[in-house]
Amino acid sequence: MKKRTQLLREKDKNFLWHPFTQMKEWQDSQPLVIESGKGAVLRDTEGREYVDGVGSLWCNVHGHRRDEIDRAIRRQLGKVAHTTLLGAANIPSTLLAEKLASLAPGNLTRVFYSDSGSTAVEIALKIAYQYWQQKGRPRKKRFVALENAYHGDTLGAVSVGGIDLFHKIYHPLLFKCFRAPSPSCYRCSLGKTRKTCNLDCAEELGIVLSEHAEEIAAVIVEPLVQGAAGILTAAPQYLRRVRQLCTQHDILLIADEVAAGIGRSGRLFACEHERVVPDLLCIGKGLSGGYLPLAATLATNNIFRAFLGEHTEYKTFFHGHTFTGNPLACAAALACLDIFEKEETLRNLTPKIKHIAFRLQRMRKLPHVGDVRQCGMIAGIELVKNKRTKEPFPSEDKIGVKVTQGAREEGVLLRPLGDVIVICPPLSITIDQIDQIVDAIEKHILAVLQQ
Ligand code: PLP
Repeated sequence: MKKRTQLLREKDKNFLWHPFTQMKEWQDSQPLVIESGKGAVLRDTEGREYVDGVGSLWCNVHGHRRDEIDRAIRRQLGKVAHTTLLGAANIPSTLLAEKLASLAPGNLTRVFYSDSGSTAVEIALKIAYQYWQQKGRPRKKRFVALENAYHGDTLGAVSVGGIDLFHKIYHPLLFKCFRAPSPSCYRCSLGKTRKTCNLDCAEELGIVLSEHAEEIAAVIVEPLVQGAAGILTAAPQYLRRVRQLCTQHDILLIADEVAAGIGRSGRLFACEHERVVPDLLCIGKGLSGGYLPLAATLATNNIFRAFLGEHTEYKTFFHGHTFTGNPLACAAALACLDIFEKEETLRNLTPKIKHIAFRLQRMRKLPHVGDVRQCGMIAGIELVKNKRTKEPFPSEDKIGVKVTQGAREEGVLLRPLGDVIVICPPLSITIDQIDQIVDAIEKHILAVLQQ
């Protein structure tokens, strides 16, 4: 190993606190130090290359060091790196807002920027709450969130989260929500199977809404797939039914597309699959092509209008961040969306999505593969101790970690969610690179679980 790598690792271990990481274990690990990337490949300080199997945490879209995005950022850097949107406009944020409004479904025509998926969600929650206050419905203060939900790590986002492992310890700090069942089918909390189910999870949600409509400001969902919970794909038409129920009970629908948006589901916006227009739409991650911290909360014109008034009516949305609408990040996002059009990225995804589906179906047959799930370019392979009973492995066995560590030896970089092996590469990945990822996973599922 090069001396430089050793030195960097030591410094990292001495000074950094990594996200979602048990730092005691980290001290004993041999972390990769990534130095550069091109396309779907990352290179470490030892010169070894890895396919970026999780798209640098589900955000890289057109590959690393895309000429068009690099140039757009440099061009903007030659003008100005950052100016505030408090009291002034800037060019890239204006043009990007216009572009997003034209691309987003329905009348989601107002764009409020922030810098992470979590903040995009905070903003949606605050807008929904304030909207009803200003519409003369002050009792509508509560939110409905789903079991297994993940919406980010700030306290509002954690309040609507539903993953005990991440969220339980913070309960005393959180606001209370109504809960509805997760729409995922593999471990249906209502004991149904696809054959015996009539979207019962949506009907359970409907009961909550009908009993508490007067108190509920909004329902928040991750359209099509609950990502962080383990790529839990939702029953088809669930989202559409949720939209109908929200409309019926005069409740806002917040769609958190931070993970599934910007092409990852196979459409630019995941809601499009079920022809749903939410009232508030959160995007982040891939918005800047996965280059720079940028997120946005899109609101309908109807919501926006409720915030208009005289200065002394105090209807203003009193929210903003230092880097709201950062010009460099917005310039990257504009270039990213241009590539979607120029290269017909979405059309070109079809064979890749089909190929992933084909490979996943084969994987179903492997020992201990309990379920495989896919939403466009996002996939999860769930490993279980007992396929029939779906009994999980004890978490101390760290099966998911062992499989992904093995895959690293094959030049594939992955990060599991518990014992769910996640595939979420840049959309620009090639079929050969998809095969490299899946081959590595298959090989190491067998190596770890067939001894
Ligand atoms: N919402 C969803 C659906 C997510 O998957 C994530 C992150 O994975 C977030 C929100 C939070 O985004 P960020 O990590 O950028 O704060």
